[in-house]
Amino acid sequence: MTYEPATPVIEFRQVGLTYPGPPPVAALKPCDLTVRRGEFVTVVGPSGSGKSTFLNIVGLLDSPTGGRYLLDGLDTSILKDAERTALRGRRIGFVFQSFHLLPHRSAQENVELALVYNGSPHRTRRANAREALERVGLGHRAAAVPTRLSGGERQRVAIARALVARPALLLCDEPTGNLDTANARSVLSLLDELHAGGMTVLVITHDADVARRGSRTVAIRDGVLREQLAGIPAGGPEAL
Ligand code: ADP
Ligand code: MG
Repeated sequence: MTYEPATPVIEFRQVGLTYPGPPPVAALKPCDLTVRRGEFVTVVGPSGSGKSTFLNIVGLLDSPTGGRYLLDGLDTSILKDAERTALRGRRIGFVFQSFHLLPHRSAQENVELALVYNGSPHRTRRANAREALERVGLGHRAAAVPTRLSGGERQRVAIARALVARPALLLCDEPTGNLDTANARSVLSLLDELHAGGMTVLVITHDADVARRGSRTVAIRDGVLREQLAGIPAGGPEAL
């Protein structure tokens, strides 16, 4: 019996982005990258190196100015804006450093709202949101508003919200940047669990401990993306 290699979720072929300026900024120089289903990729690099530019392209928030980006085998460069937005809603979950939860809505409502925007049928939203909260270990806190939750719990609600529409890809920009060590640990072990369950995860980080969690690390410096073959050097990701 032969095994097919896992389908690429992300395929960059000479993808680059130059902001027009003036003066123009080559924020991401043309690069190739393949991320396969089920990989956990961490992205490191100093401030201003192009990490967010890279993540915004992967997340279909921004279009490259050169090259081709295939998401799940689909060439995204030929899509109209509305199609890109729809594809983003179906295939991509985002987690940000600052949670972005609605303060006066319960955890359950925050997660359900993602399904409203996604156009999911009303009758399934409640149960699906509940299931996503259970998946992140917060089923018992569904009724709580964010101010009653710890930082780690808030980020886990944000992860439930990112997962509820069953994306192919989970994108996290500094997911533990606002958390103390204990809360960061709970979020990281959740990301490990999701990865173990088959989710494709891409995490931007400044933190060497976070970077080491990845099955692969990619480094960006001055807009140049490079595969990091060995482990993180002793000086941490900033030393790359
Ligand atoms: P990082 O996330 O690694 O800190 P960014 O991707 O945000 O880096 O930025 C990469 C480079 O592109 C920086 O030099 C930044 O100043 C520049 N840049 C980011 N966004 C824009 C923009 N909208 N217009 C022009 N330059 C930008
Ligand atoms: Mg950034």
